[in-house]
Amino acid sequence: MKKEIRSEKEFGEGSSSINSIQKIVVSRGNPEAQIVIVGEAPGAKEAEIGEPFVGRSGKLLDQLLQNAGFDISQDVYFCNVVKCRPPENRRPTKAEIKENLPWLYQQIKLVNPEIIVLVGATAIEAILKNKSPISILRGKWINWDGRLVMPIFHPAYLLRNQSKEEGTPMSLTKLDFLKIKEKIDTLK
Ligand code: URA
Repeated sequence: MKKEIRSEKEFGEGSSSINSIQKIVVSRGNPEAQIVIVGEAPGAKEAEIGEPFVGRSGKLLDQLLQNAGFDISQDVYFCNVVKCRPPENRRPTKAEIKENLPWLYQQIKLVNPEIIVLVGATAIEAILKNKSPISILRGKWINWDGRLVMPIFHPAYLLRNQSKEEGTPMSLTKLDFLKIKEKIDTLK
């Protein structure tokens, strides 16, 4: 009995409501897509629903993809480096990333995409082992394990910087998605 209460607290943040139970978040989208999008870790909405990028950041990401001409249900597979929501929305620790990476590698192997989009610093560092600023890496094609990888800004950052003026993170990210669409069209 004691054990049950403890596990409910761990996964339900102290509430007995079934809606507050935190889910393991594995993927959303087409497991045969040509593009895999890798984020950091689930947020509150993702842990509630059990799918990556379904909160505010995800809605923006979907919109950017659609504006660039992608069909979200067909062209993309979304996942994260870490599959469980870190408490209080903190960044995943090095140990959590190390523990979760084999799962991510397995997902990439199974989906076998032509292109991997790394969303934000955690995904970039976890896959590329590169700590250079995103402002330097974003929009560049990088070869990793025989695949084309492109780092981009995290949509949470774009939500905090919504100016659409030329040269802003939002307008640069729009260009990045157009570049990805152009590339995928040449590979088809
Ligand atoms: N941010 C991420 O990095 N991943 C999600 O799934 C949601 C928000």
